[in-house]
Amino acid sequence: MLDIQKIRADFPILSQKVNGKPLVYFDNGATSQKPQVVIDAISKYYQEINANIHRGVHTLSQLATDAYEVSRGKIQKHLNAKHAHEVIFTSGTTHGINAIANGFADFLKPGDEVLVSALEHHSNIVPWQMLCERTGATLKVIPMNENGELIMSVYDKLLSAKTKIVTVNHISNALGTINPIQYMIDKAHEVGAAILIDGAQATPHLKPDVQALDCDFYVFSGHKICGPTGIGILYGKEEWLRKLPPYQGGGEMIATVTFEKTTYADLPHKFEAGTPNIADGIVLGTAIDYLNEIGFDNIAKYEHELLEYATEKLSEIEGLKIFGTAEQKTSVISFNIDGIHPYDIGTIIDKLGIAVRTGHHCAQPIMDFYQIPGTIRASFAFYNTKEEIDVMVEAIKKAQMMLS
Ligand code: PLP
Repeated sequence: MLDIQKIRADFPILSQKVNGKPLVYFDNGATSQKPQVVIDAISKYYQEINANIHRGVHTLSQLATDAYEVSRGKIQKHLNAKHAHEVIFTSGTTHGINAIANGFADFLKPGDEVLVSALEHHSNIVPWQMLCERTGATLKVIPMNENGELIMSVYDKLLSAKTKIVTVNHISNALGTINPIQYMIDKAHEVGAAILIDGAQATPHLKPDVQALDCDFYVFSGHKICGPTGIGILYGKEEWLRKLPPYQGGGEMIATVTFEKTTYADLPHKFEAGTPNIADGIVLGTAIDYLNEIGFDNIAKYEHELLEYATEKLSEIEGLKIFGTAEQKTSVISFNIDGIHPYDIGTIIDKLGIAVRTGHHCAQPIMDFYQIPGTIRASFAFYNTKEEIDVMVEAIKKAQMMLS
């Protein structure tokens, strides 16, 4: 059992008022709030050990380097990666996906195929489209059904010797669907394709085991898991990271440089050109420690209760339709109300202190599938409460009365 009031006290922002009302923060899918330990760790870094890493012999540089590498080790352990050098610091999910899509240009030719799912965030569509435009490969889409689930029988048929890489999110940001990634990884490997899992929406709710999954790449963002913005992780299997070319050139990623030829640094530095985001890399480890202390099993169980409660309460509102009713779902509810634009609901309930997301959630193909301009999305975290859900439901009813 989680002590939610104790947990809420860790997050200073949650006791704020917004527009004169207590903040109800249900936009966790966009970014999570930060506990005091994370906020403190950022200032501690700048107050005590700020220095550039991997370069200096001086004490601060060594302290900062050690802290950065300790954090990498924590993330390795968290993901159960085989090696610390398979854990690359990035600026976030988008950076990780672009690094891999860019690198795959070396391996693709016309006639090859890249499979993306219909449930992707634009970050996991556009880099692959760019890759296909560059190489002449073909982008194919794994379709979804009305419930917001990927259709596995079609996936099976799309896979062939032509498939070079499959890319799919672990959990959909727009609908909350948990995708059958274990099945998808195994099937991709049967045809010799690599597979990238976008874990941006999964890592706040569960602890992925990359060795058990056997995925080739797994990417996520720190800011969605109570960490700072501007930091993320690209996990890649060693054999792939060795084969792929570096994404960016510059300092840190080289072994030797002459005007005739440059040789690259070993992993993970080959993929970490330039001065990295040292402070936030270190603090990402703090955020992961914080979540592990609460425990992902506890988090998942409690958030599921919130999801069930909210689904039941929202379903009582006349004219409200929930999009994404997959059996395997995380704590995200996307919905619309008959005859009312999602933006209007979002604007009115914001005046009542409630933060939800409205729009296409960077997943326009999903909105096109349902033929809607967007949805209202409430996404819950372990620090939210049923009382807050009640506040939202009442606010939506009020907005509905005003707008209809
Ligand atoms: N993929 C998914 C499923 C997401 O939900 C998001 C962000 O919402 C991203 C990718 C992009 O993450 P970032 O903007 O942190 O790079």
